[in-house]
Amino acid sequence: LFISFEGVDGVGKTTQVERLRAYLEAQGRTVVVTREPGGTALGQSIRHMLLHGVDGAAVDIAPRAEALLFAADRAQHVAETIRPALERGAVVITDRYLDSSLAYQSGGRELTAADIRSLSMWAINNLLPVRTYLLDMDPALSHARLQHDEDRMESAGNDFQTRTRQAFLDLAAAEPDRFRVIDAAQPVDGVWSTIREDIDALLAP
Ligand code: C5P
Ligand code: MG
Repeated sequence: LFISFEGVDGVGKTTQVERLRAYLEAQGRTVVVTREPGGTALGQSIRHMLLHGVDGAAVDIAPRAEALLFAADRAQHVAETIRPALERGAVVITDRYLDSSLAYQSGGRELTAADIRSLSMWAINNLLPVRTYLLDMDPALSHARLQHDEDRMESAGNDFQTRTRQAFLDLAAAEPDRFRVIDAAQPVDGVWSTIREDIDALLAP
């Protein structure tokens, strides 16, 4: 079972990923939790470049280069972590996956959607999640909840975040079978109970 969590920064993806992990492990399932960018050693290095630059200095990464770096991170993530774990029978939960690229690099950076989609599909070799939880909220609110100093991506500005949020919603509307859109402005327990009910239905024999 392959599940992804998506949404703009600060919506609470990590909290819900951990709740889902605990819930499934309590049922005796083997769970692999992972994330993008940075789910592998190569990916950690790419993540560092994307968020903090090179050799301690900020770099102005061209949008197409940025898209390729995210795609490289994802290709390694699928090959090294996700596909082997699924083959072992584990449940894999990833904090971001290809929809983040479709939303950020196409919606946010305004690269052509079809290009980003074919690049992403090539990178993942067509391995799509069965379920994607989109945690949705106003990025002005979610941004205020971030608990750390903002990185290069997070400082891209409110218009960027608003375009990205809308792109996520459009993706969800286009694939209603895979996506569940959840209001992330409600309390954490409310978000979690929606996810739990959906997972129970998904796992029901
Ligand atoms: O979710 P996380 O904080 O780990 O993501 C790192 C940063 O990369 C975030 O600020 C997010 O906005 C950005 N990002 C992106 N394009 C992606 C994935 C993440 O711009 N495809
Ligand atoms: Mg972040």
